[in-house]
Amino acid sequence: MVKLIFRLYCEGKGLIYISERLNKLGFKPRRGSSFSKSTITHILTNPVYIGKIKYTDRATIKKAVDGKIIRIRNENKNVIYVEGLHDAIIDLNTWNLVQNIRKSHLINNNKVDYSLKNPMSSILKCGLCGKTLHRVTYSNRNDVRILCRDCKENVGSNIEIVEAKLIQSLQILLDKYKIELINNNNSDMEELLTLNQQSIDNCLVDLEKLKKQLNKTYDLLEQEIYTKEVFTERSNTLKAQIKEINTNIENLKEEQKKILKSKNNKEILVPKIKNVIDSYFETDNVELKNKLLKSVLEKVTYTKINPKSKDDFKLTLYPKIY
Ligand SMILES: [Zn+2]
Repeated sequence: MVKLIFRLYCEGKGLIYISERLNKLGFKPRRGSSFSKSTITHILTNPVYIGKIKYTDRATIKKAVDGKIIRIRNENKNVIYVEGLHDAIIDLNTWNLVQNIRKSHLINNNKVDYSLKNPMSSILKCGLCGKTLHRVTYSNRNDVRILCRDCKENVGSNIEIVEAKLIQSLQILLDKYKIELINNNNSDMEELLTLNQQSIDNCLVDLEKLKKQLNKTYDLLEQEIYTKEVFTERSNTLKAQIKEINTNIENLKEEQKKILKSKNNKEILVPKIKNVIDSYFETDNVELKNKLLKSVLEKVTYTKINPKSKDDFKLTLYPKIY
């Protein structure tokens, strides 16, 4: 039976095919009632069939240092095969062939897919290192996951769960923006704008005063009340003050533009986000989905550390700023 399993696998038959074939032939595994993918895998990788026993090195090894025996951590912890006391059922060539076939299957099954199949492509970033998350397919588990290839502590997730949660988060953001717009909860911004305008008005008043004073110095010079030295000193001081106030006004006007921009931002984003949420699940076109997300989001960070469930992760949305 073991020889048959190895032969079928070398012929290119799959694990499911082999297990079904064995079950039809009436074979029974040592444990359980029927063969499955995992029992076949177990047999194909068991070195007992080449007359060897699987042996994992100890975590620590003894070493003599200065005449004393000490234990040190074994850095080269390897799986090794030692000669067993039984005869081989499978020859070494067949064994090596099977292991090579398995290796190539494993690589193909866990390949990273670079074509645009992830609607969150280039938006979804690792919450720990900031790098773009990768989409990885595991055909043996029938699972598509996203993960950071650099941060093992940031646990990956099923892509559909992340996608659903992202749209959910967008809806929450939309509701928040809507309420703020309806309640005219731009109040913080309105207040800033008012304060800003008041500062500008004050500056303009001061500027007028200083200009009048500067004009007056010319009169006083003409009337010979000011000496040339006094006039120069006085007018230079006033000119410096005027210059300073003009700079202040320019800065305040820049500030005002920024406040207005962020106020408009919400007014633009609300209908845009609504459109994304409405259209998102209407289409199966991944590129279109990606475009929709990119139209409102700069990026989204993903963090999942010591999760208690498969959807126990945090998404932080960074809306686009116009
Ligand atoms: Zn990372």
